[in-house]
Amino acid sequence: MKIGNHVEALELSMNFSGTPSIIYPTAIWNDEGVTLFDTGVPGQLEAFKDALSKIGKSLSDVKQIVLTHQDIDHIGSLTELLKASEGKVQVYAHAEDIPYIEGDKPLIKYDPVRFESMFASLPEEVGAKMKAQFSQLQVNKVDHALADGEELSFLPGVKVVFTPGHTPGHISLYVESEKLLIAGDALVVDENGQLQGPREAVTPDMESAMQSVEKLTHLDIDKVLCYHGGLYTNNPVARLKEIVQSK
Ligand SMILES: [Zn+2]
Repeated sequence: MKIGNHVEALELSMNFSGTPSIIYPTAIWNDEGVTLFDTGVPGQLEAFKDALSKIGKSLSDVKQIVLTHQDIDHIGSLTELLKASEGKVQVYAHAEDIPYIEGDKPLIKYDPVRFESMFASLPEEVGAKMKAQFSQLQVNKVDHALADGEELSFLPGVKVVFTPGHTPGHISLYVESEKLLIAGDALVVDENGQLQGPREAVTPDMESAMQSVEKLTHLDIDKVLCYHGGLYTNNPVARLKEIVQSK
């Protein structure tokens, strides 16, 4: 899905916990190459190749990967992408989430006991597939730490907005030229197409997460791309203020 000039939402299907859905990693490119924002669940290398080829790009064009946060559906295919690109790709994440991504701390939402019982509760085939997927997850080195307000050196005009709550080091990205917010999981678009705050069930620190939503109301935003739910364009700032008010 084209979002703007040299900005594309890659639409990948994911079958998490047996419920199919679409996730929206973003690709932004310039003369230097492609930057990917988030890497799907484990096992999506081929899906990334396909999605990139639809915009006339290939894995060898990818020069940077920015992770909005540590969750498995965002870091899942990082290892495969790095292997396939022969180590030329630089990886970026917020300093607060780096220890989790690098394996110095356990992923904040990866509780092996809880996951075992989730796998067991699913139809056998689905559970086995998910278990196999999860076991592929490996730790990776993050090359660069990002900080709030930082402009990406490789993508002038794209700024880091620190939006903790969903995870301690969650970031969103603001693309000035498009007035676009790449929200990651700081916001979601629900099944009715409505923009909502972060999902409580998977947001350990709702207080910080809502402060992060409030912070976003101060940006000049025309479009919001949510990793879960896709694009929202119906006066996002007014809707964000509504979300803050309703809490
Ligand atoms: Zn997610």
